[in-house]
Amino acid sequence: MKIHNENTMLLQSLKSDCSKCSGLCCTALFFSEMDGFPENKAAGKPCMNLQKDFRCKIHGELEKRNMKGCIGYDCFGAGQQVTQSIYSGQTWQSVPEQAKEIFDVFIVVFQLYQIRYFLLESIVIFPAQVLKNDIEALLEENELICSSKPQDIIIFDVEGYRSRVNVLLKQVCNLLQKSLGCENKKCPSDFLGRNFKNKDMRGLDLSTKLLIAANFNNCVFDGTIFLGADTRDADFSNADLRDAVYLSQGQINSAKGNRKTKLPQYLDYPITWR
Ligand code: SF4
Repeated sequence: MKIHNENTMLLQSLKSDCSKCSGLCCTALFFSEMDGFPENKAAGKPCMNLQKDFRCKIHGELEKRNMKGCIGYDCFGAGQQVTQSIYSGQTWQSVPEQAKEIFDVFIVVFQLYQIRYFLLESIVIFPAQVLKNDIEALLEENELICSSKPQDIIIFDVEGYRSRVNVLLKQVCNLLQKSLGCENKKCPSDFLGRNFKNKDMRGLDLSTKLLIAANFNNCVFDGTIFLGADTRDADFSNADLRDAVYLSQGQINSAKGNRKTKLPQYLDYPITWR
């Protein structure tokens, strides 16, 4: 059974385009060496490798230097939205007195874009069509906030909105699993570093599961739910993820795979997959 309808191209609109951003993720966010970034850095301070033109000095060496945090990060297009649309090309460099505001806006818009991604995917999941009106209402709210004034964006109650979206996403997952007859399918309790090569993963709910370093070689993931799953170093070589659900570019960037891995058409092959 096919899970998504043909309109998955909607999700393409949330691809990040670093050439239209001002290095916001490399500046606004706190990160640590332990998580695969080059240094322990406070929020609001530019990374030591970020150049004046907002390009990364070591971009071509991220893999060699084991910068897994940088490779795995994806902003869902929030960076270009904040830089180009909300601030009309002005940046934390050109208007330093507004830098803090720009970073605060980015942090909220990033979260809203991440949520928007899951809502846009929900719209194209066949069994979720009965929830279309509710999904569209939450999407409209999201678009309205993201096009508001910076001060209104900053004070928006993201957690309250996220809670409402999570209730709906749970409903989508239940409908999906029911339509696949997988609502009682047993899900392994532990994935960390375990071998699932050739195993049947269809229709499983892997939401928030730690899939770190698990081997999923040659598995098929039709209708498998990846909402918030930690896929760091999970191996998807030769696997079929075309009809996986709530799978994001960041999860794919953090995982392993090869050119025989089949991805949904709205996700790109990471530079590290050969
Ligand atoms: S190393 Fe490059 S990609 Fe990573 S945070 Fe620094 S500037 Fe950004």
